[in-house]
Amino acid sequence: MQLLLMGPPGAGKGTQAAELVKKFDIPHISTGDMLRAAVKEGTELGKQAKVVMDAGGLVSDEIIIGIVKERLTKDDCKKGFILDGFPRTVEQADALSKILEELGIKLTRVLNIHVPAEDLIERAVGRRICKKCGATYHVKFNPTQKDGICDNCGGDLYQRGDDNAETMGNRLAAYEKSTRPLIEYYQKVGIYTEIDGRKPIDKVTEELISVLVK
Ligand code: ADP
Ligand code: AMP
Repeated sequence: MQLLLMGPPGAGKGTQAAELVKKFDIPHISTGDMLRAAVKEGTELGKQAKVVMDAGGLVSDEIIIGIVKERLTKDDCKKGFILDGFPRTVEQADALSKILEELGIKLTRVLNIHVPAEDLIERAVGRRICKKCGATYHVKFNPTQKDGICDNCGGDLYQRGDDNAETMGNRLAAYEKSTRPLIEYYQKVGIYTEIDGRKPIDKVTEELISVLVK
Protein backbone atom coordinates (compact mmCIF):
# COMPACT_ATOMS: atom_id res chain seq x y z
CA MET A 1 0.00 0.00 0.00
CA GLN A 2 1.58 3.29 -1.14
CA LEU A 3 -0.13 6.14 0.69
CA LEU A 4 0.13 9.87 0.52
CA LEU A 5 -1.13 11.86 3.52
CA MET A 6 -1.86 15.44 2.60
CA GLY A 7 -3.07 18.43 4.56
CA PRO A 8 -1.87 21.79 5.83
CA PRO A 9 0.68 22.06 8.66
CA GLY A 10 -0.93 20.95 11.91
CA ALA A 11 -3.76 19.01 10.22
CA GLY A 12 -2.83 15.76 11.96
CA LYS A 13 -0.74 13.95 9.33
CA GLY A 14 1.97 12.76 11.71
CA THR A 15 -0.57 11.75 14.37
CA GLN A 16 -2.56 9.69 11.88
CA ALA A 17 0.53 8.25 10.19
CA ALA A 18 1.54 6.75 13.56
CA GLU A 19 -1.83 4.94 13.72
CA LEU A 20 -1.59 3.75 10.11
CA VAL A 21 1.91 2.37 10.78
CA LYS A 22 0.43 0.25 13.60
CA LYS A 23 -2.44 -0.93 11.41
CA PHE A 24 -0.61 -1.64 8.14
CA ASP A 25 3.02 -2.13 9.27
CA ILE A 26 4.54 0.06 6.57
CA PRO A 27 7.14 2.82 7.10
CA HIS A 28 6.21 6.43 7.77
CA ILE A 29 8.24 8.78 5.60
CA SER A 30 8.03 12.36 6.84
CA THR A 31 10.27 14.86 5.08
CA GLY A 32 9.87 17.21 8.06
CA ASP A 33 11.20 14.48 10.42
CA MET A 34 14.07 13.72 8.03
CA LEU A 35 15.03 17.40 7.88
CA ARG A 36 14.82 17.78 11.68
CA ALA A 37 17.10 14.73 12.05
CA ALA A 38 19.61 16.37 9.68
CA VAL A 39 19.43 19.63 11.67
CA LYS A 40 20.07 17.69 14.89
CA GLU A 41 23.04 15.87 13.36
CA GLY A 42 24.43 19.19 12.12
CA THR A 43 25.01 17.94 8.55
CA GLU A 44 25.48 20.36 5.64
CA LEU A 45 21.89 19.66 4.56
CA GLY A 46 20.70 20.30 8.12
CA LYS A 47 22.49 23.64 8.30
CA GLN A 48 20.94 24.81 5.02
CA ALA A 49 17.48 23.50 5.88
CA LYS A 50 17.40 25.04 9.38
CA VAL A 51 17.42 28.62 8.09
CA VAL A 52 14.46 27.94 5.80
CA MET A 53 12.52 25.89 8.36
CA ASP A 54 12.95 28.50 11.11
CA ALA A 55 11.44 31.07 8.74
CA GLY A 56 8.52 28.80 7.80
CA GLY A 57 9.54 28.59 4.13
CA LEU A 58 9.99 25.56 1.89
CA VAL A 59 13.33 23.81 1.46
CA SER A 60 14.36 23.64 -2.22
CA ASP A 61 12.71 21.04 -4.43
CA GLU A 62 16.09 19.73 -5.54
CA ILE A 63 17.20 18.87 -1.98
CA ILE A 64 13.86 17.37 -0.96
CA ILE A 65 13.45 15.28 -4.10
CA GLY A 66 16.97 13.90 -3.58
CA ILE A 67 16.31 12.74 -0.01
CA VAL A 68 12.92 11.23 -0.86
CA LYS A 69 14.31 9.34 -3.83
CA GLU A 70 17.05 7.85 -1.68
CA ARG A 71 14.54 6.88 1.02
CA LEU A 72 11.98 5.30 -1.33
CA THR A 73 14.57 2.99 -2.86
CA LYS A 74 15.34 1.39 0.54
CA ASP A 75 14.21 -2.21 1.03
CA ASP A 76 11.61 -1.51 3.73
CA CYS A 77 9.56 0.52 1.22
CA LYS A 78 8.97 -2.56 -0.91
CA LYS A 79 5.97 -3.47 1.27
CA GLY A 80 4.55 0.06 0.95
CA PHE A 81 4.90 3.39 2.72
CA ILE A 82 3.11 6.46 4.06
CA LEU A 83 4.38 9.75 2.69
CA ASP A 84 3.77 12.73 4.97
CA GLY A 85 4.73 16.31 4.12
CA PHE A 86 5.88 15.40 0.61
CA PRO A 87 5.09 16.44 -2.09
CA ARG A 88 4.55 20.09 -1.21
CA THR A 89 4.93 21.58 -4.70
CA VAL A 90 3.84 20.58 -8.21
CA GLU A 91 7.50 20.06 -9.09
CA GLN A 92 7.86 17.60 -6.18
CA ALA A 93 4.64 15.80 -7.25
CA ASP A 94 5.97 15.41 -10.81
CA ALA A 95 9.27 14.11 -9.43
CA LEU A 96 7.40 11.62 -7.23
CA SER A 97 5.50 10.25 -10.25
CA LYS A 98 8.82 9.75 -12.01
CA ILE A 99 10.43 8.02 -9.02
CA LEU A 100 7.44 5.70 -8.62
CA GLU A 101 7.40 4.93 -12.32
CA GLU A 102 11.08 3.97 -12.16
CA LEU A 103 10.30 1.70 -9.20
CA GLY A 104 7.33 0.20 -11.09
CA ILE A 105 4.77 1.19 -8.44
CA LYS A 106 1.82 3.56 -8.13
CA LEU A 107 0.22 5.50 -5.30
CA THR A 108 -2.66 3.48 -3.85
CA ARG A 109 -4.47 6.50 -2.38
CA VAL A 110 -4.06 10.18 -1.57
CA LEU A 111 -5.77 11.12 1.68
CA ASN A 112 -6.22 14.80 2.39
CA ILE A 113 -6.91 15.68 6.02
CA HIS A 114 -8.99 18.81 5.83
CA VAL A 115 -8.85 21.27 8.74
CA PRO A 116 -9.88 24.93 8.41
CA ALA A 117 -7.10 27.52 8.66
CA GLU A 118 -8.49 29.02 11.88
CA ASP A 119 -7.84 25.77 13.81
CA LEU A 120 -4.31 25.18 12.57
CA ILE A 121 -2.38 27.78 14.58
CA GLU A 122 -3.88 26.50 17.86
CA ARG A 123 -2.97 22.94 16.88
CA ALA A 124 0.63 23.81 16.04
CA VAL A 125 1.25 26.10 19.01
CA GLY A 126 -0.05 23.45 21.43
CA ARG A 127 1.88 20.58 19.79
CA ARG A 128 4.40 18.77 22.00
CA ILE A 129 6.69 15.96 20.82
CA CYS A 130 8.58 13.31 22.76
CA LYS A 131 12.36 13.75 22.48
CA LYS A 132 12.89 10.02 22.82
CA CYS A 133 10.20 8.23 20.78
CA GLY A 134 8.76 11.08 18.67
CA ALA A 135 5.14 10.60 19.86
CA THR A 136 3.00 13.69 19.24
CA TYR A 137 0.72 15.26 21.86
CA HIS A 138 -1.28 18.44 22.25
CA VAL A 139 -1.55 20.44 25.45
CA LYS A 140 -5.33 20.70 25.07
CA PHE A 141 -6.53 18.12 22.51
CA ASN A 142 -4.27 15.19 23.37
CA PRO A 143 -2.50 15.86 26.69
CA THR A 144 -0.12 13.47 28.42
CA GLN A 145 -1.09 12.08 31.82
CA LYS A 146 1.93 13.71 33.47
CA ASP A 147 2.81 17.22 32.39
CA GLY A 148 5.77 17.25 29.97
CA ILE A 149 6.35 13.47 30.14
CA CYS A 150 5.58 11.03 27.32
CA ASP A 151 2.87 8.43 28.15
CA ASN A 152 4.51 6.01 25.77
CA CYS A 153 8.14 5.92 26.95
CA GLY A 154 8.56 8.41 29.81
CA GLY A 155 10.72 10.73 27.64
CA ASP A 156 10.67 14.52 27.98
CA LEU A 157 8.46 16.53 25.64
CA TYR A 158 9.66 19.49 23.58
CA GLN A 159 8.07 22.16 21.44
CA ARG A 160 9.24 22.60 17.83
CA GLY A 161 10.96 25.93 17.20
CA ASP A 162 8.69 26.60 14.21
CA ASP A 163 5.46 25.93 16.17
CA ASN A 164 4.75 29.56 17.02
CA ALA A 165 2.05 31.87 15.64
CA GLU A 166 4.44 33.98 13.56
CA THR A 167 6.20 31.11 11.77
CA MET A 168 2.87 29.31 11.35
CA GLY A 169 1.63 32.37 9.41
CA ASN A 170 4.47 31.85 6.92
CA ARG A 171 3.99 28.08 6.82
CA LEU A 172 0.28 28.49 6.07
CA ALA A 173 1.06 31.04 3.35
CA ALA A 174 3.55 28.58 1.79
CA TYR A 175 0.85 25.90 1.94
CA GLU A 176 -1.71 28.11 0.19
CA LYS A 177 0.69 29.17 -2.54
CA SER A 178 2.61 25.98 -3.28
CA THR A 179 0.81 22.96 -1.79
CA ARG A 180 -2.93 23.61 -2.13
CA PRO A 181 -2.70 23.26 -5.96
CA LEU A 182 -1.83 19.58 -5.37
CA ILE A 183 -5.46 18.90 -4.36
CA GLU A 184 -6.59 19.47 -7.94
CA TYR A 185 -3.46 17.68 -9.19
CA TYR A 186 -4.40 14.46 -7.36
CA GLN A 187 -8.16 14.84 -7.90
CA LYS A 188 -7.38 14.52 -11.59
CA VAL A 189 -5.48 11.26 -10.97
CA GLY A 190 -8.68 9.86 -9.39
CA ILE A 191 -7.23 8.42 -6.18
CA TYR A 192 -8.01 11.38 -3.96
CA THR A 193 -10.18 11.25 -0.80
CA GLU A 194 -10.84 14.10 1.60
CA ILE A 195 -11.27 13.36 5.31
CA ASP A 196 -12.77 15.74 7.88
CA GLY A 197 -9.81 16.41 10.19
CA ARG A 198 -11.83 18.46 12.72
CA LYS A 199 -13.15 15.30 14.38
CA PRO A 200 -11.38 13.77 17.38
CA ILE A 201 -8.14 11.90 16.62
CA ASP A 202 -9.65 8.38 16.94
CA LYS A 203 -12.58 9.26 14.66
CA VAL A 204 -10.23 10.58 11.97
CA THR A 205 -8.23 7.34 12.25
CA GLU A 206 -11.42 5.28 11.83
CA GLU A 207 -12.37 7.22 8.73
CA LEU A 208 -8.94 6.89 7.17
CA ILE A 209 -8.89 3.15 7.78
CA SER A 210 -12.41 2.71 6.43
CA VAL A 211 -11.34 4.36 3.16
CA LEU A 212 -8.26 2.14 2.93
CA VAL A 213 -9.87 -1.22 3.65
CA LYS A 214 -12.85 -0.65 1.35
P1 ADP B 1 0.91 17.53 11.04
O1 ADP B 1 1.79 16.30 11.01
O2 ADP B 1 -0.14 17.50 9.96
O3 ADP B 1 1.66 18.82 11.06
P2 ADP B 1 0.28 16.65 13.78
O4 ADP B 1 -0.16 15.24 13.58
O5 ADP B 1 1.63 16.84 14.37
O6 ADP B 1 0.10 17.49 12.40
O7 ADP B 1 -0.83 17.37 14.67
C1 ADP B 1 -0.69 18.74 15.02
C2 ADP B 1 -1.20 18.94 16.46
O8 ADP B 1 -2.62 18.76 16.47
C3 ADP B 1 -0.62 17.93 17.45
O9 ADP B 1 -0.40 18.59 18.68
C4 ADP B 1 -1.72 16.87 17.56
O10 ADP B 1 -1.73 16.24 18.86
C5 ADP B 1 -2.99 17.69 17.35
N1 ADP B 1 -4.04 16.94 16.64
C6 ADP B 1 -3.88 16.01 15.65
N2 ADP B 1 -5.07 15.54 15.23
C7 ADP B 1 -6.01 16.20 15.96
C8 ADP B 1 -7.45 16.16 16.01
N3 ADP B 1 -8.15 15.35 15.20
N4 ADP B 1 -8.09 16.97 16.88
C9 ADP B 1 -7.36 17.80 17.71
N5 ADP B 1 -6.03 17.89 17.72
C10 ADP B 1 -5.34 17.09 16.86
P1 AMP C 1 6.62 19.50 8.69
O1 AMP C 1 7.28 18.64 9.72
O2 AMP C 1 5.98 18.70 7.58
O3 AMP C 1 5.67 20.51 9.30
O4 AMP C 1 7.80 20.32 7.99
C1 AMP C 1 8.58 21.25 8.72
C2 AMP C 1 9.34 22.15 7.75
O5 AMP C 1 10.26 21.35 6.97
C3 AMP C 1 8.51 22.88 6.71
O6 AMP C 1 7.96 24.09 7.22
C4 AMP C 1 9.53 23.12 5.59
O7 AMP C 1 10.40 24.20 5.92
C5 AMP C 1 10.36 21.85 5.64
N1 AMP C 1 9.80 20.80 4.73
C6 AMP C 1 9.29 19.60 5.10
N2 AMP C 1 8.90 18.90 4.02
C7 AMP C 1 9.15 19.68 2.93
C8 AMP C 1 8.95 19.53 1.53
N3 AMP C 1 8.38 18.43 1.02
N4 AMP C 1 9.34 20.55 0.73
C9 AMP C 1 9.92 21.66 1.23
N5 AMP C 1 10.12 21.88 2.53
C10 AMP C 1 9.76 20.90 3.39
